[in-house]
Parts: sequence; C-alpha cells; structure tokens
Amino acid sequence: MMIEREVIIEGGGPAGAACAWRLKQYQFSPLILEKSNFPRAKPCAGWLTPKVFELLETDPTNYPFGLTHFNSFKISLLGIKFRLSTHQYAIRRIEFDSWLIDRADVEVRQHQVRKIEKTSSGYTIDGLFHTKFLIGAGGTRCPVRQNFFKRIPSHQSDRLIIAKEEEFRYPIKDKDCHLWFFENGLPGYAWYVPKMDGYVNVGIGASASGLKKKEKTLNAYWNQLVEDLATAKIVNDHPYQPLGYSYYLREASQPPQIDNAFLIGDALGLATRDMGEGIAPAIESGLLAADAIIHNKKYSTCSIPRFSFPSLIRLRS
Ligand SMILES: Cc1cc2nc3c(=O)[nH]c(=O)nc-3n(C[C@H](O)[C@H](O)[C@H](O)COP(=O)(O)OP(=O)(O)OC[C@H]3O[C@@H](n4cnc5c(N)ncnc54)[C@H](O)[C@@H]3O)c2cc1C
Repeated sequence: MMIEREVIIEGGGPAGAACAWRLKQYQFSPLILEKSNFPRAKPCAGWLTPKVFELLETDPTNYPFGLTHFNSFKISLLGIKFRLSTHQYAIRRIEFDSWLIDRADVEVRQHQVRKIEKTSSGYTIDGLFHTKFLIGAGGTRCPVRQNFFKRIPSHQSDRLIIAKEEEFRYPIKDKDCHLWFFENGLPGYAWYVPKMDGYVNVGIGASASGLKKKEKTLNAYWNQLVEDLATAKIVNDHPYQPLGYSYYLREASQPPQIDNAFLIGDALGLATRDMGEGIAPAIESGLLAADAIIHNKKYSTCSIPRFSFPSLIRLRS
C-alpha cells in the first residue's frame, strides 16, 4: 500500500533535518527518506559558525557532544602567516547530524530515493510513497534536482569544489585550527581542525576548474599537505585513508522551487563562494522551505549570505 504524507523530505543531512524540525514545530508530520543508517559519517571539516546555533534556536552549551571553540584561526595566505581573531566552533558530523535528526523528532525511514514521478496531486517516489510537497535535501547528487530541475543550466565547473579529507583519532599536539590558503599554488585551501575527544580533521578543497588550469591533481596537493603537516610536526606518522567528495558553491540565479518540489542545502548548491561553508546555508534553506510550506508563501534563498568571510572576523574591543 502506498504511504501517503503531506511532506516528504529526501535526505536527512543538516538541510533535511532542519526542515523537518521546523515543520514539526508547526504540527506537520513530515517523513524523511534517508539512504544511510544514522549515525553516518559525512566528509566535512565540521566547522560551524555561531549562526548555526542561532538558526537552531539553541545555545551551544546545549550541544550534547564534543564542541570545540576557537577564538582564533592560524592563517597562511599565499605564505603570509597571521592569526585571525574569530569566534567559531567545530563538531564531528557523525555526531552533529544524528543530533539534528533526533532533535527533529520525526519519522525517518531508511530508503534510497531513485525514481520520482509527478502526479496530478503531487509526487510518487519509487512506487511506494506519495506526497504533496517534495523536499530535495539529498546533497550534491539529489534525485529531486535531477528529476525536476533540469531546466536549470548545468552546474558550472568554476563552482565545483572537489575535496579530500580524513577525520581520525590522534594524540593532538597542536590545538590551533590552521587554514592554508593558496599554499603551494592550490586553487583553494587546506585545513587542520583539532576536535574534542582526541580527533583531528585534515582536508583540502579546491576549485575543479582551477585544478584543470594548473594541470595538477588534488592528490598531488594532498600529498604535499601531508608532507607539510609532518615537517611542521602537527601530524606525523599517520597512515592516511582520505575520503573524496564534491559539492557546488552558490550559484547566481536558479529557482529553488518548481511546483511543489523544493531544493535545499547542497542539492541547490548553496555553499559560500569564499570558504565553501555549507552547513549554515543548508540549515537556513531548510527552515525557509519549511516556512514557505507552513505559511503558504514564496520560497526564496536570496537572504542566505553568499560569503563567509565577514562573519569570521571578530574585532577586538
Ligand atoms: C571535505 C568537505 C569539508 C567541508 N567542510 C565544511 C565545514 O567545515 N563547514 C561547513 O559549513 N561546510 C562544510 N562543507 C560543506 C557541508 O558539508 C555541506 O554543505 C553540508 O553537508 C550540506 O548539507 P545537506 O544537508 O544539504 O547535504 P548532506 O549533508 O550531503 O546530506 C544529504 C543527505 O541525503 C542523503 N541522501 C543522498 N541521496 C539520497 C537518496 N537518493 N535517497 C535518500 N537519501 C539520500 C545522504 O545520505 C545524506 O545524509 C564541507 C564539505 C566537504 C566535502
């Protein structure tokens, strides 16, 4: 028998979970279809701005897992080194995403969405589920996007970020968060983020078109980063097994909604143009889509900031 829900959300990452949480606050009973069994890992440095907690209407002290607080970042910009005063957090995505989905307190079914058909009254998913409102929160390769948003010009390669990272237990020697911008000619940046409970996250992200122009692979830059971390005695002797992932930076103009199908988070391509920050935009878009359904109003993502940098700088008084 077909399972009928007024709202179905495909994907239970930060975008989908935030959308479900807001809908539940207004007495909706959305169903999340999520292909992975939570808790699941997600390649991500796990850096969070204070805005994330504001959007979630909670205080960081209420976060039940390890939360690292950074008052400064150690930056290297084209080889020039300085400390940037800031106020930021870091979490482990395996914990954060589970917390978000638990907090939403909605029905979640483990199901990989494959085939979606439009009907006169909504959308049928894999012949098993039917909904009036369909939210695509499935990340970079979201099937809602692929099925219904084909009219959007295909993603431009200068917006495509390819990334490699690993999160692992390590006897932390350096408690600073390091960011290396354009180091060794990288068209992007690399990071070292120490976390709570003895984990560190090491990663690198670069524009796909920039790498093509330089005729150099991300792997070559990754190998250089690993060497540099060892030389600086930040991480040595770790047998790296990094994961690769790609996602899109914010696009200039694209409809986030067609009929009753909505795109949120990475499915829409909302990460900031300068830092590739995607968690806050994912959450904000999830809340905006939910508000559009709840209040029967237009869904727009125009209010979501396109750049991270201004909010990173904390001026000392
Ligand atoms: C290496 C790396 C580092 C990053 N570091 C940061 C950072 O430090 N800070 C930051 O703000 N952003 C960072 N980002 C970006 C951030 O990870 C994403 O923007 C964010 O996860 C987007 O959230 P989302 O909910 O839209 O998508 P996702 O987190 O990708 O969640 C999508 C969910 O949909 C599920 N799904 C996918 N397909 C289907 C399907 N067919 N059926 C059912 N379920 C499906 C997936 O299993 C997943 O749970 C980083 C990205 C990368 C790649």
